[in-house]
Amino acid sequence: KLYSREHQKDSTVVKVGDVSIGDGTVVVIAGPCSVENREQLVGLSVQIKEMGVNVLRGGAFKPRTSPYDFQGLGLEGLKILAEAREASGLPVITEVMDIRQMDLVCRYADIIQIGSRNMQNTPLLREAGKTDKPVMLKRGLSSTLEEWLLAAEYILMNGNKQVILCERGIRSFETYTRNTFDINAIPAIKHLSHLPLIADPSHGTGRRELVGPVATAALAAGADGIMIEVHPDPSKALSDGAQSLRPQEFKDMMNGLRNFRLLF
Ligand code: PEP
Ligand code: MN
Repeated sequence: KLYSREHQKDSTVVKVGDVSIGDGTVVVIAGPCSVENREQLVGLSVQIKEMGVNVLRGGAFKPRTSPYDFQGLGLEGLKILAEAREASGLPVITEVMDIRQMDLVCRYADIIQIGSRNMQNTPLLREAGKTDKPVMLKRGLSSTLEEWLLAAEYILMNGNKQVILCERGIRSFETYTRNTFDINAIPAIKHLSHLPLIADPSHGTGRRELVGPVATAALAAGADGIMIEVHPDPSKALSDGAQSLRPQEFKDMMNGLRNFRLLF
């Protein structure tokens, strides 16, 4: 299998501008769950860049559980992301949900994200395999490690070697947390595959007070980076407010990781 350590011994390093993912340094991806408006994203992007963020995140096409919830700004959201990239100098990652949006999203994104709900959307995986953009593939809601790696294989076998995996928690019997962050997955994936791995403790816990500790654990376990949802005013967020850190809380978390010598 192309994803396996047997196929490739050396770890894959995905390069995005001057950011390297998988080279032994810790990469921090941060930003709001959804792109909501220009002021929000441009202001926040400059602020978090100062705090040590390497990549800006923000969803323009949102895979919401309820069709009555905010579905994202679409093209307008992509344009705002491009403005925030201009203002902050940060590369951007955003989700693509449909093969019909692939060309459009690739025109704006530096990294394309395939979300949990689409992890086994094989036409979308194949299409992502034909692009020249790095792809971050999130683990499916109830996927085994093998199913997740085989989904990555669809992208790799179509020619795109720039694949990043993202552990974001799985469905379990526990309901206190939104998902159960699978810490086992971190060393297991690093053992099985040469692909870089990002931890997403925001979706992995669903609760802001748990995000910092789980980020710390994931980096200690060997993750190549973390993805954290940050919002200027989580109580007004259009999606995922409960798990979003305020900028000051995010700054404190980053300093905590530096104190742990998990981040330099
Ligand atoms: C997200 O990153 O905002 C997202 C929708 O995540 P997931 O696909 O892991 O639910
Ligand atoms: Mn989210």
